[in-house]
Amino acid sequence: MSRDGPTGDKGRGRRVKCPNCGSPALYSPENPWRPFCSERCKLVDLGAWATGAYRIPVEEEDHGFDPDRDD
Ligand SMILES: [Zn+2]
Repeated sequence: MSRDGPTGDKGRGRRVKCPNCGSPALYSPENPWRPFCSERCKLVDLGAWATGAYRIPVEEEDHGFDPDRDD
């Protein structure tokens, strides 16, 4: 008897896509680099952040309320 329900397999051999290279990465405590597939991918990704390869657009909305506006 085997149950293949969505919750039947608790964190065993779960695979995710490595955010860096797209390879299947083991998502379990056995993989210290998760969700990356390897240390290299993790470091590459962190390096990319550090060098600004990823830019998070920061939009600061600093509009003060305008009391003069009267429609
Ligand atoms: Zn990878």
